[in-house]
Amino acid sequence: MALRSQLLRIVSNGQQVRYIHELKSMERAGVEKLRDVLEDRLKEIKRAKTWKHERVITSPQDRTVTVKGAEGEFLNFCANNYLGLSNHPEVVEAARDGLAKYGAGLSSVRFICGTQTLHKELEDRLTNFHQREDTILYGSCFDANAGLFEAMLTPEDAVFSDALNHASIIDGIRLCKAQKFRYPHRDLNELEHLLAHSEARLKLIVTDGVFSMDGNVAPVKGLRALADRYRALLAIDDSHATGFFGETGRGTEEFCGIMGAADIICSTLGKAVSGAAGGYTTGPKELITLLRNVSRPYLFSNAPPPPVVAASMKALELVERSNELRERLHQNTKAFREGMKAAGLTVAGDDHAICPVMVGDAPKAVELASGMLLKGIYVVAFSYPVVPKDQARVRVQISAAHTQEDIKKAVDAFAEVATNIGLIKK
Ligand code: PLP
Repeated sequence: MALRSQLLRIVSNGQQVRYIHELKSMERAGVEKLRDVLEDRLKEIKRAKTWKHERVITSPQDRTVTVKGAEGEFLNFCANNYLGLSNHPEVVEAARDGLAKYGAGLSSVRFICGTQTLHKELEDRLTNFHQREDTILYGSCFDANAGLFEAMLTPEDAVFSDALNHASIIDGIRLCKAQKFRYPHRDLNELEHLLAHSEARLKLIVTDGVFSMDGNVAPVKGLRALADRYRALLAIDDSHATGFFGETGRGTEEFCGIMGAADIICSTLGKAVSGAAGGYTTGPKELITLLRNVSRPYLFSNAPPPPVVAASMKALELVERSNELRERLHQNTKAFREGMKAAGLTVAGDDHAICPVMVGDAPKAVELASGMLLKGIYVVAFSYPVVPKDQARVRVQISAAHTQEDIKKAVDAFAEVATNIGLIKK
């Protein structure tokens, strides 16, 4: 008997208990097939050793965390909490005020009845922070990237994307109908070759400002020069730079000494700037107006919740108020990189708080991260396909919340564990 009529019969008999019991024991053919298919795929993920183990944190995100099933506190070296604002008292207080004043959420997308004064204030503040013409807020930077290319580019246009760009840029580009070109990581020569041979109407170069697996920086000056030479646009995803990279935290273009280099900046509020959630695109006002009208993650998804918006606004205020947190982050990063080098370990990247400790062999990277955990230091190993084969690493992320003692403790622990597992030869 068909499942639906069987269920109806059971319900109409009023046999609630039997109904639930039978529902549990009946497997729909489609679900049964799905389980078969997924079982194989899940086995494949395990075989490839790319299974993601999620540790459950039982404390706020901070310099130290507690983890379910483990005793004591861990020094946290794997969050994007660059400025230590995720649990900053002023940020938490602002979120609480936002909740009290504006409620938990909007139950609406922005253009129906989901725009509050708070959203407009944050957009204005970001516009001012980046010295751009206008800004549009999204629920996340993933959404900002997913909603940019399809809205902006047509088949007459072309997009040129760094091979190591973030997944959200890759997915955003997949959704658009423009001509698509991928240039080798940070390779200006190859990019120039592609630009020179393109007759597209609009040409958009897009790059991460800082690449999250390597902690290295896009060649912004060279990219700007090429954009100018070939009448192209430059978009930078500054998720790993906004708020803390560059002298005043204006991001990669400031770090590279070329403020205003990007025509479009997409960034996140989920890392240095409050660490709660949210993303945005800032740039020419016509583009932002177009995005408000046609960008799908903006049009078809709920407005960011008021406490989250209020937290980001306060975090941005702290970013602008003083250089103290940025300076502390810089000192911590310098001490970590120098200490690791002195210990005989290789840290990749360009003077950034993302410090990939290079290992090479994937099981060794896991061994190193596990050894660090046993010493009370929370770090994570990354291996293929997240990073290239034979370039497994333990990614360390430094925060302004760390003390110099924390940094020393981490360096000493790395030196000891790396020696014990044979990564450093005595
Ligand atoms: N872009 C880059 C470069 C990122 O590293 C991330 C987050 O990992 C994102 C975008 C997505 O940011 P969000 O968490 O706001 O969606």
